[in-house]
Amino acid sequence: MVFIPYLAPMTKKVILKAKRSAAVERFHPWVFSGAVKNIEGEVQDGDIVEVCKADGSYLATGHYQEGSITVRLFSFQQSTPDQGFWDAKIGRALQYRRHLGLAGGQHSTNCFRLAHAEGDGLPGLIIDIYNKTAVVQCHSIGMHREMEKISRALQNNFGGHLEAIYDKSAETLPRQYALGIENRYVFGAGSPGPVLEYGNTFQVDWEAGQKTGFFLDQRENRRLAGQYAPDKKVLNAFCYSGGFSVYALQAGAHSVDSVDVSKKAIELTEANVQLNGLPPERHRAHAMDVMDFLRSADNDYELMIVDPPAFAKSLKKRHQAVQGYKRLNALAMSRIQPGGILFTFSCSQVVSQQLFYDTIVAAALESGRQARVMHQLSQPADHPVSIFHSEGSYLKGLVLYLE
Ligand code: SAH
Repeated sequence: MVFIPYLAPMTKKVILKAKRSAAVERFHPWVFSGAVKNIEGEVQDGDIVEVCKADGSYLATGHYQEGSITVRLFSFQQSTPDQGFWDAKIGRALQYRRHLGLAGGQHSTNCFRLAHAEGDGLPGLIIDIYNKTAVVQCHSIGMHREMEKISRALQNNFGGHLEAIYDKSAETLPRQYALGIENRYVFGAGSPGPVLEYGNTFQVDWEAGQKTGFFLDQRENRRLAGQYAPDKKVLNAFCYSGGFSVYALQAGAHSVDSVDVSKKAIELTEANVQLNGLPPERHRAHAMDVMDFLRSADNDYELMIVDPPAFAKSLKKRHQAVQGYKRLNALAMSRIQPGGILFTFSCSQVVSQQLFYDTIVAAALESGRQARVMHQLSQPADHPVSIFHSEGSYLKGLVLYLE
């Protein structure tokens, strides 16, 4: 008989340079490559590692992935990330949404973000709930390797309420790794279906749509825009599936123009207007570039929503992005009549709230308009920001009353 000794799996360790552990001690969830002194053990992308101070003492646990962010930390307590660990993590995320009144037996809203990456202590993990389907997008290899445990944790926490879990990580993971995977149902099966948001119905195509299928982060801002919409001539620029358009029509807007460069988005918008039984004669959808539309548009809009995709995905692109926001907003303002309202947004994480504000000031100067700031908007509470990770704040909006 051959005796096989039991070998405890060796903990892989990332040792930080002296004086480079302060950020982790303040619970910042990223370890940058420049802070790493050495690595103990053979590490591969996606491995779970313990991060230690230069003297070897434990600091945190996370997923290793070569790159400028070398470790994404999901625990600051030494523990084994077994099934119970992920059950508890997802459980806390769900509990928080229950506090928000979003999870469990909601009548008018049954879609929300359950896991917002660093904001929920889950770097690299996004989970959106669309009624009885969870859509998961992993942004790190390590999180994707936990998929089976995350899937089970979702089922354990939701009980029988969840009918399907769709892994849509192929487009969010690093390209090399993503080549080997495909989007698929990891539990149950479903087909894209309708969801409710504040009583409005939206067809969400999580399989073929953008991101996880719907821009949940604009829920509160859509509702606010609806409040200003009665009797107004409205333009919803960058409409995607028509969220703002549906709220505006529902509130009794005089007319709504929805513009998106994507034909698929325009089809979704039209389907959603129809699904809510809204008057089709008050809605026009245009599959075209927003700048082109604005150049030839009327200048008597009374309510305008400008919600472009992120213009800057990295710091290098920030300057260019700011110029883009300025041009877009100056042109948008010129198409709004005196006494009209502009809802304008940026979801570029690298463009801070202050920088966005200054950019809109520059746009107002360029367009020669006086304006009052009515509201300063951000992302909703189901997209939380960890107090130790201000980088998690990405959505900003300004509502202006234009003279
Ligand atoms: N406001 C939307 C989300 C907008 S997402 C909501 O509440 O759901 C940004 C949208 O801008 C995407 O649908 C994308 O197709 C569209 N887009 C990107 N560039 C564009 C351009 N140059 N002109 C028009 N639409 C554009």
